Amino acid sequence: MESKPEEKRTHCIRCGECCLATGPSLQKSDLPLFFNHVLDNTHLYTIRKGELVRDNINDALKFTDQEIIKLGDQETGKGCILYDDGEKACTIYEDRPSQCRAFACWNSEEFKAVFAEPKATRKDIIKDPSLLRLISAHEKTCDYQVISHYVKQIQQKGDSIIREVLKILQYDQDIRRLTHEKLGIDPREIDLLYGRPLTETIHMFGLTVKQELDGSYLLTAEDAC
Ligand code: SF4
Ligand code: SF4
Repeated sequence: MESKPEEKRTHCIRCGECCLATGPSLQKSDLPLFFNHVLDNTHLYTIRKGELVRDNINDALKFTDQEIIKLGDQETGKGCILYDDGEKACTIYEDRPSQCRAFACWNSEEFKAVFAEPKATRKDIIKDPSLLRLISAHEKTCDYQVISHYVKQIQQKGDSIIREVLKILQYDQDIRRLTHEKLGIDPREIDLLYGRPLTETIHMFGLTVKQELDGSYLLTAEDAC
């Protein structure tokens, strides 16, 4: 077995390990990739402001203070959606996003510089006014600050606050379904429009949600499961 190759490496050998870890987030400088049809909305999802994310630079979890657009993972959950595991190659290598170009597993300086540049946002990518209105309405109702405020009150106020959180969860589910059913938006684009479903991200508040047979939700504290 090779011993710690990353310590000796001075150039990329295209081993694909970084692509198999996760995809990049997008900077504003990556926006031409949309106009050139290298990337499309089905490749992406949004991490909304206030969401818990892994800060790979500092190797820590943090609540993001800005919106992030990220390339999705493969269905297996293993690596970037644009990595071809069979070919062991990036399918858009010549046009890969700026973070991928800057990433060097033996030296993080260039990556850090690119990472600090302005991030792409949904407004850079989505131009349809009716979708932008829906995104704005969703952001207002499902604001992570609002949810966090409610969650902090659960112990003190109990069921009345739980009902408020459940209403938000239901709204999040409904707007996703209706955007697909009524506007014909590809289901693969929904997490770009509204971020990851609250039924998944609610874990960051120490809560878990189960859907009952009648479609209603049950909210419980994770340590009570
Ligand atoms: S930068 Fe990525 S592909 Fe290149 S050698 Fe390092 S881990 Fe492998
Ligand atoms: S876009 Fe290409 S280079 Fe970048 S992480 Fe995905 S597969 Fe790797």
